[in-house]
Amino acid sequence: AQSQVGLIGLGTMGAALALNIAEKGFPIAVWNRTTSVTHRFHRDAGALSAQITPADTLEQLVAAIAAPRVVILMVPAGQAVDDQLAALAPLLDAGDLVIDAGNADFHDTDRRSAAGLSFGFLGMGVSGGEEGARHGPSIMAGGSEADWQRIEPLLSAIAARAEDGSPCAARMGESGAGHFVKMVHNGIEYADMQMIAEIYGLMRDGMGLPAAAISQVFAGWNDGPLQSYLVEISARVAEAADPVTGQPILDVILDRAGQKGTGRWTVIEAQHLSAPVPVIDAAVMARNVSARLGEREAGEDRFGAAPGPVRLDHATLEAALIAGKILCYAQGFAMIAAASEGFGWALPLPRIAQVWRAGCIIRSAMLNDMATALDQHADRNLVLAPHFADLLDRTVPALRQVVTAGLAAGNPLPALANGLIWFDMMRTARGTANMIQAQRDFFGAHGFQRLDGLDRPHGPWSSAG
Ligand code: NDP
Repeated sequence: AQSQVGLIGLGTMGAALALNIAEKGFPIAVWNRTTSVTHRFHRDAGALSAQITPADTLEQLVAAIAAPRVVILMVPAGQAVDDQLAALAPLLDAGDLVIDAGNADFHDTDRRSAAGLSFGFLGMGVSGGEEGARHGPSIMAGGSEADWQRIEPLLSAIAARAEDGSPCAARMGESGAGHFVKMVHNGIEYADMQMIAEIYGLMRDGMGLPAAAISQVFAGWNDGPLQSYLVEISARVAEAADPVTGQPILDVILDRAGQKGTGRWTVIEAQHLSAPVPVIDAAVMARNVSARLGEREAGEDRFGAAPGPVRLDHATLEAALIAGKILCYAQGFAMIAAASEGFGWALPLPRIAQVWRAGCIIRSAMLNDMATALDQHADRNLVLAPHFADLLDRTVPALRQVVTAGLAAGNPLPALANGLIWFDMMRTARGTANMIQAQRDFFGAHGFQRLDGLDRPHGPWSSAG
């Protein structure tokens, strides 16, 4: 029997995705640049190998797929994708469809979509790591509605299922829309991780708790409003022991964070969209500071280590993290709304929250309520949706207590503090930009609007200047 789909790139993600597709009953043909990898993959696929056709050449791959063909690319973002598209071009027909399932920069996906390829093209963000790809990822696709409809049954079959049974796979809009939403997902992921790390730091440095105790605190929170994959794994990594030394593994891991760039892309794109995402900003900044280990060591030598003791109870920390999380997601969804308008994409915000409920790294209980709130209050920032406004009433005082106590004692809390700062700015109808406008008018005659509506757009200095 001919395969219903082909897949190129049997690395971590591609191999897992191919097994998932085969397991859901779709015969699949696979090709990898290094042929031995293809054969090993087929050999190790066990009972699923009957569903899998290994191909040694791209020609064999294309011949093994029933027309009109669907080919999924799972290779590193960038040049490898362009190279594969070029290699496939002479082999594919106009009715065929290629899906780039890697972490492409959405600008590249836009470019490829507009490039007049001789076949259909979808850009698709896949989240959930290897485990997600194998047993059910969260899928964010971009491209034409017709191309999406063709592949939707397969993608819905392999995607994660939310608690209500709906598949975590959706079309976000045209061209780069899927990779854009995946990018913001990753930016939020950076921020979620950073806020958890900041709370961990308060417990470790401010409260003197050992890793095992911190693990128990996180585990407890995972039964409440903070229930999420990232809080769950934070509890698990905090309790794990290092097989070499027997110490908590957290205590032997160097505090220098890696990154592959999607957080940075989110922040850069947010600037282009004039969309404030200060919590994500802080998370990317924190990773960059963490990388400058030598500088931090010199700083500690000269000024002494910063973090001092704080007195905070666990319930206050939990409430602060709840507030921080709401503020971070409110910023992320507002950025998506800005892109939706700026790029004319009509991004489905409630559906995005739904698709993130399972399969992906930021999956959490709170996303259910966010989906409902974004649906019922589509024209408002998430913080103004009644459910979340009420929750913020109850949790922002704790966030303020944590941030002020932490900062006063020298515990850096960039993401939590930035969330609070943004919240206070958001609820200040009379801010301080009147001073900025006066300064701009003074040195550049840029003009300003007046509170009383009078048409006198310049200050008394302009004639003198
Ligand atoms: P791996 O490094 O594990 O695998 C890369 C695969 O691409 C290999 O099969 C490799 O073949 C192939 N490849 C590399 N360069 C080329 C090239 N120039 N031409 C053709 N094939 C090439 O990567 P991952 O599976 O981790 O990632 C794949 C994509 O998925 C990336 O875009 C990544 O950002 C994205 N992604 C990864 C996630 C993860 O958790 N790992 C999560 C979500 C998305 P060969 O065997 O010959 O080297």
